[in-house]
Amino acid sequence: MKIFLGPAGIPTTVKDKGVIEGVLEVSRLTLNAMEIQFTYGVNMKEEVARKVGKVAMENNVLLSVHAPYYVNLNSEEEEKIKKSKERIISSLQKADLMEAKYVVFHAAYYGKSSPEECYEKVKSEIEEIMETVRMNRWKSIPAPETTGKRNQFGTLDELLKLSEETGCALCVDFAHIYARNGGKIDYREIFDKLSSFEHIHSHFSGIEFGKSGEKRHLTIESSEDNPPLKPLIKEVIKRDLSITIISESPILEQDSLLMKKVIEETIDHFSMNSS
Ligand SMILES: [Zn+2]
Repeated sequence: MKIFLGPAGIPTTVKDKGVIEGVLEVSRLTLNAMEIQFTYGVNMKEEVARKVGKVAMENNVLLSVHAPYYVNLNSEEEEKIKKSKERIISSLQKADLMEAKYVVFHAAYYGKSSPEECYEKVKSEIEEIMETVRMNRWKSIPAPETTGKRNQFGTLDELLKLSEETGCALCVDFAHIYARNGGKIDYREIFDKLSSFEHIHSHFSGIEFGKSGEKRHLTIESSEDNPPLKPLIKEVIKRDLSITIISESPILEQDSLLMKKVIEETIDHFSMNSS
């Protein structure tokens, strides 16, 4: 079993001190993962990306990347699709320099398309992106995320099919699945579906939601109506999974540390019961 835990972005404790200090802080906090956020654009220089990768490697922090938020591979405007692809591809290029495997993004909105039409459109764009990845021999791959709003492309089944047919990866956002299903989640069913994956890249947090799904991310302990953490951890340990769980909670690294505590308690509990 190998579990990687860490924040979506620079820890709040070193918020304004840049990505490298962020990676070092993750390691000081005894965490071992961090997702680099290109929220509003990919503006990291190549030499910085290489340096970030080196510092992460030296400090045993596993990196991933979140591509900019403004992406829609099913836009009615060709120009917006082109721009979306450029954002994903430049994220992949920087991720490769950092030796970060997964490049996460929200792939598309259904818009006026049926889910099937949207799927075909996204698939053809992802195929092109995968071709660019192969041509450049990048080790990073696109990982579209399970989305939290019902008007967004990205159910688990859609992404599993996409991964099977194009070779891309995927990111399982447990809070989004919970919100989209109106406050229900079946971890066993999810991990059964993911059983062929060597490693699972995922996001976790609390979440506020309504009829159309996700409203905003919350801290893990903020509400009774959040996706439950303990059953998730139990399932991860029982299955001996190799998994990265990125905290997208507003208190980032503090909730990663909460996850770590629950993992340690669960392992203790299991070993006490088996001895
Ligand atoms: Zn997420």
